Amino acid sequence: MKLAVIGTGYVGLVSGVCFSDLGNEVVCVDKMSNKIEMLNRGEVPIYEPGLKELIKKNKDVGRLHFTTDLLGAVQQADIVFIAVGTPSLPDGQADLSYIEQAAEEIGKSLNGFKIIVTKSTVPVGTNEKIQEKIAMQSLFPFEIASVPEFLREGTAVQDTLLPDRIIIGTSSEMARKRLIELHKPLTDNIVVTDVRSAEMIKYASNAFLATKISFINEIANICEKVGADVDQVAFGMGQDKRIGSSFLKAGIGYGGSCFPKDTQALIQIAGQMDYDFKLLKSVVEVNRDQRFNVIKKLESILNHLQGKTIAVWGLAFKPETDDVRDAPAIEIISSLLERGAKVKAYDPIATDNFTRHFNMDGVEYCDKAHEAASDADALCILTEWKEFKDISPAIIESWLKRPNLIDGRNIYSEAELAGTELNYYSVGRPAMN
Ligand code: NAD
Repeated sequence: MKLAVIGTGYVGLVSGVCFSDLGNEVVCVDKMSNKIEMLNRGEVPIYEPGLKELIKKNKDVGRLHFTTDLLGAVQQADIVFIAVGTPSLPDGQADLSYIEQAAEEIGKSLNGFKIIVTKSTVPVGTNEKIQEKIAMQSLFPFEIASVPEFLREGTAVQDTLLPDRIIIGTSSEMARKRLIELHKPLTDNIVVTDVRSAEMIKYASNAFLATKISFINEIANICEKVGADVDQVAFGMGQDKRIGSSFLKAGIGYGGSCFPKDTQALIQIAGQMDYDFKLLKSVVEVNRDQRFNVIKKLESILNHLQGKTIAVWGLAFKPETDDVRDAPAIEIISSLLERGAKVKAYDPIATDNFTRHFNMDGVEYCDKAHEAASDADALCILTEWKEFKDISPAIIESWLKRPNLIDGRNIYSEAELAGTELNYYSVGRPAMN
């Protein structure tokens, strides 16, 4: 099939590349010419394992193209995907301006029948607005569908090629048939719904996962008070098939470009219908508080942070990505600076992105983990990169000026800490000192 994907970010790029790998002709469009130039030079503007190789393979056989020419891309396509961003507005609502602009441009570009599919996460009712917007620009026939995306950054290629399920929300028989045909090579588990339900499935899924994380983080906070070990508790809970073991990892809370904005957007969607989504509001509040436990623990060990050197490992919101949007590191580092600490930060991949987006005077960015840790009064681990897990606590102890380790992601076991003199504080597990 001939596809156009509008928006070449984490979702659009990975989806476009994977569709081309299935044998489809794909044109990926972005209005940022520097992204398209990079891709045409064989460079990849985001870090995502396996993506570079897949781009090269499909570009080389001529099935994958990158352009800023939206009109040309739409005109050659049978199916057009919208994968532009839907960030948060200051009040938490989804900002639909990129969606509206893309719909308008698609409408102006139509030259015959197309299926227009929204992959971006959009509030319930948005696809109907997209339909109206396109219809205002064009007399050519088209059908719309909502096919929300569930990929996770860091494993995006794998998630796209082996999805748990595909949701297709449409009222069009023709769109249903063509989209099932397109997605069939990926999975047999294709769920067809109406458009509004598909839009809601995406928000409900992310809200549920965020709820699991905040739930286990509150259990972790109670574990610290009663002397239980949250990792053992989560393992025991997860053995119950009704609960499941995923998303029960205690830590400093979720971040990233999806959970924070999608939980806020769902609270707003509910509120606009006079529904007070109390549970989700608490999930967000718990998540906000959870990251500050790092600061509280540091203050309890070091008394005050003024003039202290604090090493931070991990700027990305999770491992295997360079994405720093809503990463816990942002607020934690800001709080450290506000308290007068000197911060030395290291991340294996995300430092460039972090410095591009945030201007944090007083942070020394280091090229190596040991540079950040050397001579620090404490080290805080904020992202569970494998590189960090591979460094033994004894080595960390030898680098630090004072033996204080705050492990915000519970990456070390008791056995790994044995024999060290570290004051070790993790999340929901007994402190060791
Ligand atoms: P992103 O910000 O990485 O990429 C969006 C891209 O769209 C940008 O490169 C931007 O330049 C481009 N763009 C915007 N308007 C355009 C236009 N009119 N024409 C051409 N290009 C345009 O965003 P993302 O992380 O890929 O997310 C996209 C959508 O998918 C969002 O709604 C998000 O909530 C959803 N989603 C994201 C993830 C994720 O993990 N990132 C997972 C599932 C769903």
